[in-house]
Amino acid sequence: MIKDNLHRIEQTLTGTNARLVTVTKTHPVEVLREAYEAGARLFGENRAQEMAAKQPELPTDVEWHLIGHLQTNKVKYIAPFVHTIQSIDSLKLLLEIEKQAAKSDRIIEGLLQFQIADEDTKTGLTLSEAEEILNSGEYRALRHVRLTGVMGVATNTTDEDQLRREFRQLRGYFDKLKSLYFADEPTFREVSMGMSSDYPLALREGSTLIRVGSAIFGAR
Ligand SMILES: *Cc1c(COP(=O)(O)O)cnc(C)c1O
Repeated sequence: MIKDNLHRIEQTLTGTNARLVTVTKTHPVEVLREAYEAGARLFGENRAQEMAAKQPELPTDVEWHLIGHLQTNKVKYIAPFVHTIQSIDSLKLLLEIEKQAAKSDRIIEGLLQFQIADEDTKTGLTLSEAEEILNSGEYRALRHVRLTGVMGVATNTTDEDQLRREFRQLRGYFDKLKSLYFADEPTFREVSMGMSSDYPLALREGSTLIRVGSAIFGAR
């Protein structure tokens, strides 16, 4: 049952600083409502148009997190309401978020997505690409996007040593960027890592946002 699954996962967060992003991609609005009634407030979707279709059907205190690759031409669909875009992987995308957020007179939060997996299919920045963005004048001129941390998707493996290495790598990127660029910004604080199969390990490695879908709703 959705409620029991949610509560079981929430239990594992007691005593940590971490929060749960309930990943609802592919599920119909009724399922999201059931999760909302069981207490879920942070919802993760991986497609902009799917999120935009669901958002008006849910209460306004839902915090919407975009967790999938986002094309610049899709930003406009979610800019009026999205709370955090977790999948920022280019300066071009940041500039488009700035433009669309300004139109809505909002500030959108964002996480820099890093490539930590040992798989070509998984996207994200390298540390030097992220630093290039953060050092640029264009980044510094942004007024409607606030970077609040980092995000990564680990390799789909049961090898705990490998997962631990990848989570530590992401945590290391966070620490480095925090000290070099965000030391005076308490809002830069999120390390988004851990999914259904690996969130307990991610929590032990310092995750602040776990993104869990199938462990709550069953296999998609
Ligand atoms: C789908 C997805 C999740 C959740 O995956 P589950 O295995 O269902 O928990 C987490 N993060 C991202 C980026 C996803 O696309």
